[in-house]
Amino acid sequence: LQEGNIVIIGSGLIGRSWAMVFASGGFRVKLYDIVQEQVSTALEDIRKQMEELKKSEMLRGSLSLEDQMALVSGCTDLKDALHGAQFIQECVPENLDLKRKIFSELDRYVNDSTIISSSTSCLSPTSMFSGLQHVKNCIVAHPVNPPYYVPLVELVPHPQTEMATVERTYNLMKKVGQSPVKLMKEVDGFVLNRLQYAVISEAWRLVQDRVISPRDVDLVMSEGLGLRYAFLGPLETAHLNAEGFKSYCERYGEGIKRVLATFGPVPEFDGETAEKIDQALWEDEGDKDDQLKAGREYRNTCLSHLAKLKKEM
Ligand code: NAD
Repeated sequence: LQEGNIVIIGSGLIGRSWAMVFASGGFRVKLYDIVQEQVSTALEDIRKQMEELKKSEMLRGSLSLEDQMALVSGCTDLKDALHGAQFIQECVPENLDLKRKIFSELDRYVNDSTIISSSTSCLSPTSMFSGLQHVKNCIVAHPVNPPYYVPLVELVPHPQTEMATVERTYNLMKKVGQSPVKLMKEVDGFVLNRLQYAVISEAWRLVQDRVISPRDVDLVMSEGLGLRYAFLGPLETAHLNAEGFKSYCERYGEGIKRVLATFGPVPEFDGETAEKIDQALWEDEGDKDDQLKAGREYRNTCLSHLAKLKKEM
């Protein structure tokens, strides 16, 4: 069993996943939410998810399902939840006012050694943490959905975040089997989404310019680039495609610049192209909720197999 409690604020999709990740690493987890019913549903769902993971031999960590489950408890009283907390992971809906309200409340209750971490996907640390008494203990730890299979966590500091906060968060994430990366400063979209948006915008332009169909542009990733990217990043890929990265730049730099100069302006992301892509992505005329559910199940199954493979490599 690990020292110190982890407190999860908000027991939705991401809060539940974090609870499972920390329990798998042997931490005692308190799952806090405003409504008792929400907490009970979350605990039931966590058990269900863990049972399915066990069945498919994908339960993480060295503890049994029952031992992991025993580490997670629910709570609707914030002061109670924070008792003995070493690390707080906030997972409430993506709304700046709500998050600021919660952080100012936490700021009153925590001591100097408790880390306050946010799961936010795109709110800046400055907008959320500025003015807090414990700002040096605040950080963004942005997970990728579903965090149980996709281990990346982007750590983004506020300008006043202490180095020790970054290091402690980094070490905690490593300890529970996630793969943290440190951003040296905040930037809109963090890094994962900046890379993702670059890809989405060029995919959009290629469809808009009638170069390729929506389904085929997705295949370029899922049957091509994406296979490498599951194991190597874009920079190392380039490094290995020549005699090192500098040699790659010498060999291909001019060509890359020529192609990049033909990239169009930022797309509007609406109108005819949005319609065309949307239509292409539905399987058939059947129920849309069913299709999304099946698609997400397929995605999670693929990711769980990939996680297994990566562990064996
Ligand atoms: P969600 O809507 O599934 O869950 C939010 C939870 O917060 C709910 O259980 C709700 O009851 C609870 N809540 C609302 N107000 C509260 C309060 N005042 N105190 C305590 N709990 C409260 O949302 P989610 O998808 O889990 O997202 C949570 C955060 O994680 C967001 O900031 C989101 O941007 C981020 N995130 C989401 C994803 C994703 O794919 N869903 C990925 C990465 C990061």
